[in-house]
Amino acid sequence: ETQKETHSFQTEVKQLLNLMVHSLYSNKEIFLRELISNASDASDKFRFKALKDDSLYENQPDLKVTITFNKEAKTLTIADTGIGMDKDDVISHLGTIAKSGTAEFLSNMTGDEKKDSQLIGQFGVGFYSAFIVADEVTVVTRKPGQPVDEATQWISKGDGEFTLETVSKEHRGTSITLHLKDDEVEFADAHRLRGLVRKYSDHISIPVEMIKEATPEFDDEGNIKEVEGEQPVEFEAVNSATALWTKSRSEVTDEEYQEFYKHISHDYQDALTWSHNKVEGKLEYTSLLYIPAMAPFDMYNRDQNKGLKLYVQRVFIMDEAEQFLPMYLRFIKGVIDSNDLSLNVSREILQSDKTIDSMRSALTKRVVDMIAKMAKKDETKYLEFYKQFGQVLKEGPAEDNTNKEKILNLLRFSSTHTDSEVQDQALKAYVERMKEGQDKIYYITAENFITGKNSPHLEVFRKKGIEVLILSDRVDEWMMGYVHEFDGKSFQNVAKGQLDLTKFETEEEKKEQESTDKNFESLLKQVKEILKEEVEDVRLTYRLTDSPACLVLSENDMGAQMRKIMEAAGQ
Ligand code: ADP
Ligand code: MG
Repeated sequence: ETQKETHSFQTEVKQLLNLMVHSLYSNKEIFLRELISNASDASDKFRFKALKDDSLYENQPDLKVTITFNKEAKTLTIADTGIGMDKDDVISHLGTIAKSGTAEFLSNMTGDEKKDSQLIGQFGVGFYSAFIVADEVTVVTRKPGQPVDEATQWISKGDGEFTLETVSKEHRGTSITLHLKDDEVEFADAHRLRGLVRKYSDHISIPVEMIKEATPEFDDEGNIKEVEGEQPVEFEAVNSATALWTKSRSEVTDEEYQEFYKHISHDYQDALTWSHNKVEGKLEYTSLLYIPAMAPFDMYNRDQNKGLKLYVQRVFIMDEAEQFLPMYLRFIKGVIDSNDLSLNVSREILQSDKTIDSMRSALTKRVVDMIAKMAKKDETKYLEFYKQFGQVLKEGPAEDNTNKEKILNLLRFSSTHTDSEVQDQALKAYVERMKEGQDKIYYITAENFITGKNSPHLEVFRKKGIEVLILSDRVDEWMMGYVHEFDGKSFQNVAKGQLDLTKFETEEEKKEQESTDKNFESLLKQVKEILKEEVEDVRLTYRLTDSPACLVLSENDMGAQMRKIMEAAGQ
């Protein structure tokens, strides 16, 4: 006889469960997608593990998901023959240890139901979505290789506690039974379930099976024949059960691409766009890469989930393979399926493999081109994208010298041309607007847009009608350390060093300045003497038109913003 243990959900899991059940209610059917998605992940992991030890298959060669239901009992069961869980796995995955970032995630909640439900989707609550429609969930699971009578049963009403018990389970894998709430019995219905499987899980690469629909037999007069005795239960796949990326582009609909995106990204919204390619030749691989619509709440956390799902010859190898894309493209989600790598490939091997280097540069180029294509095709959509990911793209010029010019083309800035905080001006457009004789791209960095916009350094430029880019993102000043020119024009910080704007001056202005210079010669000398401990130099300036004086950094000085960052870091 085994002991029943009662455990409490971790506080954060409790909060999450509560939030989710309420805010996802309007989209409750997604629970099925989440559970099938987990079953598919578990099967992928099993297949990989069994590569090294095929005794793990035990007496069950099939990898599949089986869905059964009982309307009277109000139950719905999703069973898989995947990797299963032992007791410790169950404890940590289903309740006591919150996923990393849960606290951060919860602190991002706004109270606005619509926004929050989008965030929840991003967070990938997965398993817990069962409680949207169920008032009790039972999980019975066994890892392959574990004795049949050492399976684990987990039961919870989603109210803060779960119980654990050791039970027996013949087949490896996991079976999840939902006891449906009274008003959710619609889900214990063959027609409804088949529809949902086709809608959400068609791309799953293993069969998702349900009981075969009985096709009635007719007699000679066209009446349905009465069938005598028990009929054997037969199952059939409801989905198409082919890995989506192995199909050709023309065989896949946009809806299917979007559902597959949701499966691999745990995102709950559609992707913005994607690129699906089969590469043949020296290297052979298929890539399917997506741009999400929204930045994950933890994009600036360097430990956030990044990288692609790696398959080798359709066998799943690992999640979050980071080696295939640079950091500044860490928001890209997708799948790589290689024919060249060995099935034994590990993270360590990936780090030093020559094949990976060439795949990485090809994939990087592909993503940069996909973004450029979007920018060209639909500027409004592009600006939406840029709002989400522009800051990360700005890491590109420093990280990726090869694609620098292309990346610069993708950047958008605030500028005195619009005087708007919206970053929507491309460098190319700036260059096209440059004044006769202008050979530099002028910019200013500031702590925020308002400060930048009102900077006294801009006065003379405004007066002369010369456009200046206003850079106020945290990463800007650092980025500009790596950006020296665009389209053959060099960049000039208007707050640094001597500005030579003489060529934009009229003869009259020049004469006027010469006489002013003379008049102020002695005053300048005196001021210099007084401030000699304070500043490097005192110059008469034509930078200003309204403000009496300003501080200028010498060409090699750290920028003002950078200086603040260093100060904040205690240096
Ligand atoms: P995610 O799928 O994003 O990891 P879920 O909440 O959907 O989050 O699942 C949590 C974890 O529970 C999974 O990562 C996995 O370790 C485990 N799990 C869930 N369902 C299964 C299953 N059918 N078989 C094996 N493990 C599972
Ligand atoms: Mg999941």
